[in-house]
Amino acid sequence: MLGLKNLGIDDPHGRDRKRLVTFVEIDRCATDAVAVVTGCRLGKRALKFRDWGKMAATFVDVSTGKAIRVAAKESSKALARQMHPEIENKNGQQMAAYREMSDDDLFATQWVKVDLPPEEFPGYKGERIVCEFCGEGINFRREVRRDGKVLCRSCAGENYYTSAS
Ligand SMILES: [Zn+2]
Repeated sequence: MLGLKNLGIDDPHGRDRKRLVTFVEIDRCATDAVAVVTGCRLGKRALKFRDWGKMAATFVDVSTGKAIRVAAKESSKALARQMHPEIENKNGQQMAAYREMSDDDLFATQWVKVDLPPEEFPGYKGERIVCEFCGEGINFRREVRRDGKVLCRSCAGENYYTSAS
C-alpha cells in the first residue's frame, strides 16, 4: 500500500491494472499480501521473484518508469517490544505495535531505477525457442547461447533437479 501510494496508483485492480510490475524478494506471507494488494501475479508476469530472503519489494510504474523499493525495518521488532512491554506474546506485541507505528518506523523506502527490458513486460510477445539438446520450448529470452548452440538453462547446467532414474 505504501509503494502504491508513493507511485500515485490508487486503482491497481481496475484503471491502473496495467501500470504495475512488482519485484518481491522473499517467499513468505508478505509476498502473498503484495500480490493481493497490487493485483500483480506471477502468471500475469507482473510479479517477479528474486530469492534474496529479504522482506522487501520494489514497485515499478511501467507508465512512467518510476520505481520505489520498500523494505521492512529490522528495528521495528525492537520498537514493538518498547511500545507494548505489557504484551508477553511476541506475535501479539508486534501485531498491536505495527498498527500504531508510522510508515517511517515500519519501512525504509528508496526511489530506484529498474532496468526492465521488453521481454520482462507482462504483454511481451516474442518467439518461442526450442532447446537444441532436450527439445523443450523456451519463452521470454531465457535461452542460453553457447558454442553456437541454443540451450535451455537446465541443459546449460543451471539445474535445480537431477534425473531420479
Ligand atoms: Zn534443454
